[in-house]
Amino acid sequence: MRDNTLIIVLPCFNEEEVLPITIARMSDLLEKMIARNKVSDDSRLLFVDDGSKDKTWGIIEAAQNNKPFVCGQKLARNAGHHNALMAGMKTAVNAGADMVITIDADLQDDINVIPEMVDQYTEGVDIVYGVRRERNTDTWFKKSTAQMFYRMIKLMGVTLVYNHADFRLMSSSVVKELLLYHERNLFLRGIVPCISDNSAFVYYNRIERQAGESKYPLRKMIHLASDGVTSFTIKPIKALIGLGAVFIIISLCILVYVLYNYFRGHVVGGWSSLMLSMWFIGGCIMVGLGIVGEYIGKIYMEVKDRPRYNVEKTLLK
Ligand code: UDP
Ligand code: MG
Repeated sequence: MRDNTLIIVLPCFNEEEVLPITIARMSDLLEKMIARNKVSDDSRLLFVDDGSKDKTWGIIEAAQNNKPFVCGQKLARNAGHHNALMAGMKTAVNAGADMVITIDADLQDDINVIPEMVDQYTEGVDIVYGVRRERNTDTWFKKSTAQMFYRMIKLMGVTLVYNHADFRLMSSSVVKELLLYHERNLFLRGIVPCISDNSAFVYYNRIERQAGESKYPLRKMIHLASDGVTSFTIKPIKALIGLGAVFIIISLCILVYVLYNYFRGHVVGGWSSLMLSMWFIGGCIMVGLGIVGEYIGKIYMEVKDRPRYNVEKTLLK
């Protein structure tokens, strides 16, 4: 059987309202799983305080004193959801976790599927994605913008798991591979599926936030979406070359139109040359930008210094 020390990482940013409920429910769940031998008795909960300004850290500290399996990590300032997750996952594998589960501290994701995730891990799966069955509790706006985002990002050629956010289980080997991605613009939802295909899904209904309010205002959501595209693909730059080519072709059509008008004598002096050069030069500039962009794109990919491959297993003697 696989080793089964579980560390559950919960990023918290100004979550004083929901945290007491979360600590109670998660502790309950972990105690039950330990009692049933589903996970080893040194399994823990790791709350990562992402530079909160409220009583979040105080609550974590108090819980840590009361319960043996509650741990905390405080980031010096707000580093953002994905960075808080990375910090927690790193600490978890260094602390000896065999599997790590990440889940939001607001309990919008159904914690009752966690045992099912652990079962999948025990059977040999390395990544278990928590997938929302429907989005009934989201506002119409959040639902439609999310759908638009998935469509756009698929068009750009990025692999994402549909309706999966950051509720997932990863084996320690996957987390270690993940830590090899040193990029600053961290888009976890895109990177994790690149690491291993040995994955499974558990489905759940997403519920309302238990308390407090969303820490993801529209501004942060747009930022996340644009990060998702720009940190994964240079297709937008490549598109410039195509667009430039289209402009040059249009300039040929315009040539016919201009000549037609010129010979019929319908034109003001200088119109023909202006019309033609505008489209033609515009097209050339765009193609030129696209070519420069191709090189910048290459530099961008090199600078990211992503691992070229991810190892799943090695049998050496
Ligand atoms: N979060 C964080 N740092 C941030 C913003 C959010 O650690 O800068 C945490 C937050 O405490 C929560 C999780 O990320 O546990 C998801 O945030 P939220 O529930 O507000 O997002 P939503 O569910 O509304 O998309
Ligand atoms: Mg939430």
